[in-house]
Amino acid sequence: MRFKQIIGLNEIKEKLTQSAERNHHAQIFSGPPGSGNLALALAYASYINCENPTKADSCGECPSCIKIDKFIHPDLHFVFPISSTSKWKGKDVVSTNFLPEWRSLLTLHPFITLEDWIDHFGGENKQVNISKEESRQIIQKLSLKAFEAKYKIMLIWLPEWMNPSAANAILKILEEPPQTTVFLLVSSDYERLLTTITSRAQLVNVRAFSMDEVINFMATKTEEGKDNLSQLAQLSEGNLSQALKILDQQTAEETDQRFSDWMRMCWQNDLVMLVTSSENFHSMSKLAQKSLISSGLALLRNALLSSNNLNGLMRVSEDESDFVSKFGKSINLSKIEIISNELSEAFYHLERNASPKMTFLDLSLRINVILRS
Ligand SMILES: [Zn+2]
Repeated sequence: MRFKQIIGLNEIKEKLTQSAERNHHAQIFSGPPGSGNLALALAYASYINCENPTKADSCGECPSCIKIDKFIHPDLHFVFPISSTSKWKGKDVVSTNFLPEWRSLLTLHPFITLEDWIDHFGGENKQVNISKEESRQIIQKLSLKAFEAKYKIMLIWLPEWMNPSAANAILKILEEPPQTTVFLLVSSDYERLLTTITSRAQLVNVRAFSMDEVINFMATKTEEGKDNLSQLAQLSEGNLSQALKILDQQTAEETDQRFSDWMRMCWQNDLVMLVTSSENFHSMSKLAQKSLISSGLALLRNALLSSNNLNGLMRVSEDESDFVSKFGKSINLSKIEIISNELSEAFYHLERNASPKMTFLDLSLRINVILRS
């Protein structure tokens, strides 16, 4: 991760690059959930180990930068709160065993919250923590020489979840780490950290993202204009994880709406309109085309349950339920099934690069016939 990939926060980036030479052996990147604290720590890790850094940033291209970007650098260690899962129990509940999940989540974005993480690794509502066993492994990992980098880095995400005996076990190494070892603690609850920890580390205060920064960030993720984003940005309260969820939700609602409108069009006997809408679908991204069909399939499944009065099994928002109940009442079971099959068939063709325009037009005409038969 490079500093320039993180929206805004310029004042903190400057401080970090300027102080890098002074080589603080331990720093706490403290910021609220969904802030840039983890992203900045990752960018800092890239910066201090980069083979060709500029004054303001890492190069993003040297072997070190590339490995850090993929979270596979042998000298960048990660520790984070976890709980037992169906796969890992007891002494095996250590960060090393959760690295595949950690990498795949961070690949999505570095603004993750604890909830995102627990959801992702499948923590099943158990209390997470950073255990004493984990501390033992931290000390063990740091006792080895750096493999290839200038600095060996121990990044501890959410150290507030260290149980006290684990925290106490690392105090000595935190105070006097082996040479060229750097601790980056990324905290979202500074107040909960033991003073024995905070007193041994330099504090980097990371404020929440400003409204403008959130809007700029959202604008890179959607085709929506900035004017329309300000209201959504308000809801995120400076939390980029939240901002991404709001965008996803928004996209899902738009897709459902588009599907309902399309079915209505198929019901009406207007060939010109069907041709125009097929052209519109054609111009959407491949992902949007496929999600139109898959969310259509989900809506039809719910319509099916609704027509059977199995409403308890339905997972629909209020907006959807209107469509679902009307659609479920207006056509019979076997028609819903036939349409579902047609949609699956079209999905299959789209995946194999059939022309979207022809696929959607053909599909619209078939659905028209089914609905009117
Ligand atoms: Zn580099």
